[in-house]
Amino acid sequence: MCGIMGYSGHRRASEVLVEGLKRLEYRGYDSAGVAMVENGRLAMVKRQGELDVLQGALPRLEGRTGIGHTRWATCGRPSDRNAHPFLSCDGKLAIVHNGIIENHSTLRKRLEAEGHHFTSETDTEVVVHLLEGHFRGDLRQAMADTLKEIKGTYAIAAVLEGSEEIVAARKENPLVIGLGVQENFLASDVTALLSYTNKVLYVMDGETVSLTPNGVAIFDSEGAQVKREPSLVSWSAEDAQKGGFEHFMLKEIFEGPNAIHNTLLGALDLIENGEVLPRTDFQSVKLVACGSSYHAAMVGKYAMEEFAGVPTTLELASEYRYSPGARETPLVILITQSGETADTLAAAREARRRGCHTLAVTNVVGSTITREVDEVLYTRAGPEIGVAATKTFLTQLVAMYLVAIRIGYGNGTLSHASMRSALSSLRQSSNMVQSVLNRTHSIEEASRMLDRAGHCFFIGRNINYPTMLEGALKLKEISYIHAEGFAAGELKHGPLALLDATTPVIAVAIKGDHTYEKMLANISEVAARDSPVLGIGVEGDTDLGRLCERMIAIQPVEPVFSPLPVTVALQALAYYVARRRGCSIDKPKNLAKSVTVE
Ligand code: GLU
Repeated sequence: MCGIMGYSGHRRASEVLVEGLKRLEYRGYDSAGVAMVENGRLAMVKRQGELDVLQGALPRLEGRTGIGHTRWATCGRPSDRNAHPFLSCDGKLAIVHNGIIENHSTLRKRLEAEGHHFTSETDTEVVVHLLEGHFRGDLRQAMADTLKEIKGTYAIAAVLEGSEEIVAARKENPLVIGLGVQENFLASDVTALLSYTNKVLYVMDGETVSLTPNGVAIFDSEGAQVKREPSLVSWSAEDAQKGGFEHFMLKEIFEGPNAIHNTLLGALDLIENGEVLPRTDFQSVKLVACGSSYHAAMVGKYAMEEFAGVPTTLELASEYRYSPGARETPLVILITQSGETADTLAAAREARRRGCHTLAVTNVVGSTITREVDEVLYTRAGPEIGVAATKTFLTQLVAMYLVAIRIGYGNGTLSHASMRSALSSLRQSSNMVQSVLNRTHSIEEASRMLDRAGHCFFIGRNINYPTMLEGALKLKEISYIHAEGFAAGELKHGPLALLDATTPVIAVAIKGDHTYEKMLANISEVAARDSPVLGIGVEGDTDLGRLCERMIAIQPVEPVFSPLPVTVALQALAYYVARRRGCSIDKPKNLAKSVTVE
């Protein structure tokens, strides 16, 4: 995820671009750059770091046409070289890109053999070289030919020396045009446009755009021109940055399906071809993490044992560092969203000191942990602004499944067919998460059960035990209600003593799971103590429905993958409770996003 801005008109383009990129910084902020047509030639400035760094480096430029980018690295660590834009070898074309080019390694090999010289490690750079190869004087035609060769997701904008035209295209990444008088704009979202215009045209998947100061033309994938009426935006710039959502957290919950999709897109090939974990003959595995990532690790333990049959242990990063490490495991997987979590970094160093093979799962390309481990698997959730982890947690779950499936296939537990079928179920999971999000009104209704609660319990079994720990953590983080998660079988060993009519219990029971009957029995025990039960289960499950005061229904799902839809339901539940309580949702008290102290 990153921010794109384009401008062609009568103002100084560099100023418009920087102004627009400032509004898009929430989409990515590890590096930024601009390219513009300056006295007929292309001028480009790009820098690692936040936008201020670029601004400091920009000379006064007079060009009136240009493109800009603020990056969230997905391929190639943040650096000046990897920052966008990228220039063609002859320096006549420049492009910026948001998304992932899936087949970039194959294309790169071919382009290098044809004599193209690459300057970066990014997937993006293949696009400018393809464009250069196809360019015969018509930029839009060259773009159309280029798009036929690339696989993946993108919003791309390109400029050509000596021209006022910007050509852009999109597939699964946002792009919107702003219409002005003798000037037109292009951006990843309307936030960047609102200081100039509220008259916009949304670009749809598969379309290409040609934009000049005097006009905008949109073409479908067949090259036919599309007629579209402009829309008028009534948002304030602040609203728009949150995409119209009231809080970043809600926006990020809704970005869950896309985050899952992008994570899979970036990793499926690596997993299927064994590029991640080429060696899989591990006798045992250890998962190390803190906070929400630790809950993802717990799901990882179940997945690892299910798909790979490998005994798996867990350790909190803060504990691992000081453990005796007497019987060390050969593979240690470290999970940290930011890649900067102090305890997890220290644990990574300790694991290497103990001679283990280390794999980091992180959302931030080039973060410190990526330099401390043997291998990295990236989640591709994009930047998360809300302090409470939401979409990044979902993608950590996806990463856990991927690693388990990889090891299972590598060590012979899964046949090729079962590996493919597990990956295909995983691909379906973003639709399952989406279907939960399509019904948030019912979650909002159900969440009223928690309004007057001082205490809440979350119970689940097996792979949904960690899901419930995460649900409880989400609720306490943002609503400040005391919430505890338990393995449902543990209730009668103590916590049952605390139950009464004022303590709601949130319980998950997935029909088809081998612990389903046991869960129903546990829910009956709870209901018998007068605690109101909010059930989460599969739609049409009347047995569960009868035991619960209310129910949140998810689509039928393979139990092993149920943590994905269940989690997103719990995130939305916590959100709605906290919102009615008027809590500071995006910045909960006493908490920080990235925990860089031990
Ligand atoms: N894949 C590109 C890069 O890593 C674009 C990044 C993005 O859109 O997040 O530079």
